[in-house]
Amino acid sequence: NNEELYCIGCGAKIQSDDPEKLGYTPASAIKKGLENDELYCQRCFRLRHYNEVSDVSLTDDDFLALLNQIGSADALIVNVIDVFDFNGSLIPGIHRFVGDNPVLMVGNKEDLLPRSLKRPKLKDWVRQRANAEGIHPVDVLLTSATRGHSLDKLLAAIEKYRKGRDVYVVGVTNVGKSTLINQIIKQSTGMQDLITTSRFPGTTLDKIEIPLDDGSVLVDTPGIIHKDQMAHYLSAKELRIATPQKEIRPKVYQLAGGQTLFFGGLARLDLIAGPKERNGVVVYMENNLQIHRTKLEKADDFFVKHQGGLLQPPTADELGNFPQLARFEFKVKEKSDLVFEGLGWVTVPSGAVVAGYAPAGVGVLLRKAMV
Ligand code: GDP
Repeated sequence: NNEELYCIGCGAKIQSDDPEKLGYTPASAIKKGLENDELYCQRCFRLRHYNEVSDVSLTDDDFLALLNQIGSADALIVNVIDVFDFNGSLIPGIHRFVGDNPVLMVGNKEDLLPRSLKRPKLKDWVRQRANAEGIHPVDVLLTSATRGHSLDKLLAAIEKYRKGRDVYVVGVTNVGKSTLINQIIKQSTGMQDLITTSRFPGTTLDKIEIPLDDGSVLVDTPGIIHKDQMAHYLSAKELRIATPQKEIRPKVYQLAGGQTLFFGGLARLDLIAGPKERNGVVVYMENNLQIHRTKLEKADDFFVKHQGGLLQPPTADELGNFPQLARFEFKVKEKSDLVFEGLGWVTVPSGAVVAGYAPAGVGVLLRKAMV
């Protein structure tokens, strides 16, 4: 009975039902904590032991309080996004909480995108998408946290735009924010010892502060869980198969109208009608993801029969938890990318009629072709 147990770190009521809610503590950890007279919730435990800020779901009252606090601060906001999954990177309502503060957009995981995709075009696109969300970034930078690409540029830009103010780094989970922060710490030698963790006043959330030269701080905020990410539908193993680890090599298929491509058992493209007899489509997805071509008229049956088998991921034992695929149909008016958020995209020719399928909750959208 966890009725009267509270975390000695943050005071949250201990619960072991919902890992995304405050006070979550695995049952085994509760037992251990009680034995040692040191009962921390998982978030506080991680923070104490790994200097790690845990993630929160956007509906947490504490988190909303934190966002409001950022809004009323005079600071530079650094919004880290995954260039490979823009929609999955969005913090809903971000324009409301940034207030009048300048926003620096950092498009991370740049290393995944093929070289044929021109970087200025990519930056323009990030800017356009940000504008559509009501944000007008002072600048857009592309980085690779894992490779350490463009970190000097990022640090220089932060220095340029913060003008002596504090810096808040915000982002949803999986965009690489932690990796990026760790790289920043590594680059600024000797800083490791200076990291402080503290709580946002009036909330039970912790933040990590990295001191800057002039007494200002760079604040790492908790990652926000964005449900509509492919990452939430796959196990860690499947995710490694489905999401690119290295630079994507585009693959070209010549499709006739009435043909279908399956991307593992995760997504599907129907070329319902094509302007030509053979239509070149270019797939930008994880290099090792299995792609199968079938006739459209047989595709439904093929999928039912083979998802979890020939069409993987998901694996057979994951099928139970895997959502139904939702279908989106488009008439293509100019050469466009049919984007499966978090999974990649397929460039389709002008004049085609296509349908894209992705797990319910994961967006499928059409954008002007980037290459
Ligand atoms: P956070 O939840 O935003 O803090 O994200 P993490 O730092 O934990 O990273 C999420 C995943 O993305 C991990 O598997 C990282 O290895 C990967 N990742 C982070 N940065 C990059 C990057 O620049 N390029 C690539 N290819 N992967 C990255």
